Amino acid sequence: MTSTKTLCPYCGVGCGLEVAPVSKPDAATENYLVKGDRAHPSSQGMVCVKGATIADAIHKNRLLYPMVRDSLDEPFRRVSWDEALDAIAHRIRHVVDTQGPEAVCMYGSGQLQTEDYYTAQKLLKGCLGTNNFDANSRLCMSSAVAAYIQSFGSDGPPTCYDDLEQTDCAFLIGTNTAECHPIVFNRLRKYHRKKKGKVKLIVVDPRRTETAKDADLHLAIRPSTDITLMNGIAHILLRKGWIDPLFIEEATQGFTPYAAVVDHYPPEKVAEVCGITVAELEQAARWWGRSKSVLSLWSMGINQSAEGTAKARTLINLHLMSGQIGRPGAGPFSLTGQPNAMGGREAGGLAHILPGYRLVKNPEHRQAVETAWELPPGSISPTPGLAAWDMMVGLEQGAVGVFWVAATNPAVSMPDIERTKAALRRSPFTILQDAYYPTETAEYAHVLLPAAQWGEKSGIMTNSERTVTYCPAFRDRPGEARADWEIFAEVGRRLGFAKQFACQTSAEVYAEFVQLTAGRVCDMTGLSHQRLADEGPIQWPCPQVETPDTASTKHDKRLYTDFRFPTPNGRAQFATFHEQGLTEPPDPEFPFVLTNGRLYGHWHTQSRTGRIDKIRKMHPEPLLEMHPIDAQHLKLQSGDWVEVRSRRGQARLKVVVTQYIRRGVLFIPMHWGALWADAAECNALTHSAVCPISLQPELKASAVTVVPITEE
Ligand code: SF4
Repeated sequence: MTSTKTLCPYCGVGCGLEVAPVSKPDAATENYLVKGDRAHPSSQGMVCVKGATIADAIHKNRLLYPMVRDSLDEPFRRVSWDEALDAIAHRIRHVVDTQGPEAVCMYGSGQLQTEDYYTAQKLLKGCLGTNNFDANSRLCMSSAVAAYIQSFGSDGPPTCYDDLEQTDCAFLIGTNTAECHPIVFNRLRKYHRKKKGKVKLIVVDPRRTETAKDADLHLAIRPSTDITLMNGIAHILLRKGWIDPLFIEEATQGFTPYAAVVDHYPPEKVAEVCGITVAELEQAARWWGRSKSVLSLWSMGINQSAEGTAKARTLINLHLMSGQIGRPGAGPFSLTGQPNAMGGREAGGLAHILPGYRLVKNPEHRQAVETAWELPPGSISPTPGLAAWDMMVGLEQGAVGVFWVAATNPAVSMPDIERTKAALRRSPFTILQDAYYPTETAEYAHVLLPAAQWGEKSGIMTNSERTVTYCPAFRDRPGEARADWEIFAEVGRRLGFAKQFACQTSAEVYAEFVQLTAGRVCDMTGLSHQRLADEGPIQWPCPQVETPDTASTKHDKRLYTDFRFPTPNGRAQFATFHEQGLTEPPDPEFPFVLTNGRLYGHWHTQSRTGRIDKIRKMHPEPLLEMHPIDAQHLKLQSGDWVEVRSRRGQARLKVVVTQYIRRGVLFIPMHWGALWADAAECNALTHSAVCPISLQPELKASAVTVVPITEE
């Protein structure tokens, strides 16, 4: 039986999979055996339940044909691809002529492959002249991107997964890694247990998550007191002399004002604000300060905040003051949520960036891309496009004439979901390009385009540690599904850009893309479909075809090992921040802080995992976690139903009483949209405030109240 090596298309861990057909090759019925690829350097044969069951949904509820309708009240009718693509091109041309290119928006996803992302950038940013391409990565890790750029001069995690097994102290903040990035945590957990007592694991989270249960020290801080905590740790490091003066002197800028600020964070004050003990704070600082190597991991608990960039930069400050970067087991490591969010960043897949880690605001960067795309000077706008939430505001205000969604489900995942739905309802022309139907967003679409998914198109994905994997097609596409990049290119050709969309294969698209990374931090000009297919996954930077595969040689897998950074003066930048607090703090009317997150088995809005029986049995329904004392005050016990209300909406949920959450804090999983549960949407409760730097919404904290539902 022939098996295919590929990548798991769920989370940013990027586990290697081997997929073998176990029944006759027929796209409608074919079944697959999926197991971990032992040769994949990132996952070493491990796989979680999502990866193991991925093939179970491959046949179910697939969108097979292009469909259109004139208004949201009408049923869809099947049309040919030509009819659908002509209608899209006609509408885009009309909107550009009458409203300008900025009235066209595309909202993509970290599920897209690099070739898809790249082709979409060329269409929107190059040919149409609008930077209105954003992705659901904006909801996920744009604060990390902003922090890396501001602190180091470039995006790109400087660390690698091997650091998990080489560190003396792992500091996990705002990440439930055990459930959200299970194979990363498996590697860390195994190492931590093997080195019992010698390696420290510190977890910072208001909940005692599956991750926190393994910790040597769990700091259950009050929501959004992260900056105070980290400034408090910095204060102790400074007082005790647990810093690296030589690194600070030679490789950084801005330490003196930073040190002056953290001087105002004595342990007693910090402990009180954070809701922990002085002893706990001092223990965390001692372990950080006395460890030879410190690795920090973070994800949405830091990023999804109105001060997300400030939080991520404050964490990076700790690494800079203690010289914990650029060597084994050390560095600040943001875990990406999605399988190719990293590839999206490389290809310019956010509204403020261009391929090759370039910025739309930088004239030299724009010129380099325009030249590569054979477009006239000035084709690319110098103005960053609309970020994810701003697209909703644009729809709400009637400023968007074409809204094109690819491989994502904003009718569940956006904040303030009733406002989001109202905005989607106002869209005059929404295109939804997806593999599955129905989804919640399909309710708001005028055109449905069937997209080929995992295993049905060949392309590239990059995981959290910069490892690039070739993902070949191994099954026929169902119905008339097409690869996303092919659809974007078809529309581009119809708009008169035949030269720009001349590539016939995804290998050609990738070959063109990597040329735009030449000389950049993310240089991958040594990579190609063929090389990756022949040699297996390779980590970037990989500037030449003879660059050794970092996974199998002594070539260093880390960035900034020479302590030089791609800033104008070559130094990493300190920045000082004071905590601003929650956008919506609790008050007598809404006394609880509601937070949310993922469960081990489910993925995002369940477009795929909701169709897998094993995962549905594992997590049958949404729930609300509540501390026993809060439950007692409300006379609630596990199994009771409540209505959770915020200033924007409500959700009906079953209570789970647990000691594993702080008093005053509630938790809801974020996976249930209207398709999977009645009136239990997490984002009915969230608000739309964003980080002013990264424009990432503060999904992690909203003020709510809880009203018991009594039997009638
Ligand atoms: Fe897939 Fe992530 Fe699970 Fe790995 S950890 S198998 S990438 S979902």
